[in-house]
Amino acid sequence: MSDQYTELVLEELGLLPLWLPPERMPTPASRPRTAPPAAAAQEASPAIDKPSDTASPPQALRSRPPLPAMQPAAPTPAPPAAASPAGSVNRDERALRIATLDWEGLQAEAQACTACGLCKTRNKVVFGVGQPSTDWLVVGEAPGAEEDRQGEPFVGQAGKLLDNMLATVGRSRQENVYILNTLKCRPPQNRNPQPDEMALCAPFLQRQVALIQPKVIFAVGRFAVQALLGRDASIASLRGQLHEYQGIPVVVSYHPAYLLRNLPDKIKAWQDLLLARKTLAEHKAPGTQP
Ligand code: URA
Repeated sequence: MSDQYTELVLEELGLLPLWLPPERMPTPASRPRTAPPAAAAQEASPAIDKPSDTASPPQALRSRPPLPAMQPAAPTPAPPAAASPAGSVNRDERALRIATLDWEGLQAEAQACTACGLCKTRNKVVFGVGQPSTDWLVVGEAPGAEEDRQGEPFVGQAGKLLDNMLATVGRSRQENVYILNTLKCRPPQNRNPQPDEMALCAPFLQRQVALIQPKVIFAVGRFAVQALLGRDASIASLRGQLHEYQGIPVVVSYHPAYLLRNLPDKIKAWQDLLLARKTLAEHKAPGTQP
């Protein structure tokens, strides 16, 4: 195998730079650039956020002169991607990067996100609303049509109910609660969030919670519960007890959209709000009554 061919193969596998004696080091002009422009990488795989320096091999190969024909006797290097697919490496890198962002950086990252297909159909990214310095966080499912138009969570009928429910325990988005969704972009036709969309959006949720550091999380609906607790159990079986996310107590309740269709369960949702309030009060003054 020629040196040039070996080098190209190693580069495609992400194994360069190798140590070489100085006299064999390639000059900058002798090595083709492998990273395509970010836009080209995006076009090749619009569903996944890829840093511009981690182009997928096929795209990178298309952007350079053809490789010399493979010698039959040449040993085939083991693909490093076998144990860890390139997509998952990129996802891990992305999640690690998001975990370091401050509030403004996180908002900017979410606004520009193209990690899943929802970016193609959304009108606005719905990052969250309220007071990020609050002790009470509400986690919902995903934006609906009105939220997608306005860029704010829970502004439709379900949102009005949520506001009314929160008001009964002295909470409002204007003053002392933060409201966000598990997904930041609207699924078309309000279909259920898909597992891959939830997984790709999870780093935003994780970082939001880490930065807000609420003292209680009020999780409404099945998908909020899935995202926070990793469980697909019924709301009925999970409510009435405390769960935990990042060490923060989580109170599970019905989604306001469900309550609009099942009015008798509103009383249970109110009990859940009381549990959240009690949890908060006990956190502030352990052992005292709320
Ligand atoms: N349902 C949600 O879960 N979130 C919204 O923002 C609106 C409706």
